[in-house]
Amino acid sequence: MGKTTDPFWAVVASFGADQILVLPEWIQRKIEDEQTVVPDGIPGKMALLEKEISGCMKCDLGSTRKNIVFGDGNSEAGILIVGEGPGATEDETGKPFVGRSGKLLDKILASVDLNREKLFIANIVKCRPPNNRNPSPSESETCSRYLQQQIEIMNPGIIVALGASAARTLLNTRTGIGLLRGEFHSYMDIPVLVTYHPAALLRSPALKRPVWEDMKKLKSFMDEAGLPRESRGNND
Ligand code: URA
Repeated sequence: MGKTTDPFWAVVASFGADQILVLPEWIQRKIEDEQTVVPDGIPGKMALLEKEISGCMKCDLGSTRKNIVFGDGNSEAGILIVGEGPGATEDETGKPFVGRSGKLLDKILASVDLNREKLFIANIVKCRPPNNRNPSPSESETCSRYLQQQIEIMNPGIIVALGASAARTLLNTRTGIGLLRGEFHSYMDIPVLVTYHPAALLRSPALKRPVWEDMKKLKSFMDEAGLPRESRGNND
């Protein structure tokens, strides 16, 4: 097409299209979203999922939470720790296991040379149940679909379930924690080691010994399976 000589179009062209065409905000946001460069690989896919669920209102917990606690750590390392659900400090910060249980969890993990750069931590439910009540079966079922997506993305070499709620939801069983712990089970063909929740240890220090036994099993498993995996580095 030849150059227009029409003075009207000459003025229009001098503005630049973006200045004369003011797009509605939602269209602008959609365009920006589509232009956002999403990193490839596991961290990128996790970031996308986190964004996707950021406004979740699929159950009542959505209306009382302050922050969704998606999960945190190294999603490439092949080790996934699963707890029950966020408490008050987690709800405030949006990070898993940052309260008293979290401090104890860090010590337990350090005993087998693990830290948060070498694993990913998530919960069965991503929003805090009010007054720290247990999540209801329907809340757990609804929200565990997100955990399932996280597991599919990460394809971990091992999952460690902390406490009865995490173990029973993942393994779809009503069996008690006393029977489940210390054994390897399976979720979508991924080994699941069950141990006590750190909050239970805070209440009953006698549980420290069995948890230590479970950690030794975890260590042997990791050594044999070559875990944690090397990260591929910067989201490529
Ligand atoms: N307890 C859990 O199960 N998860 C957390 O994130 C914190 C405490």
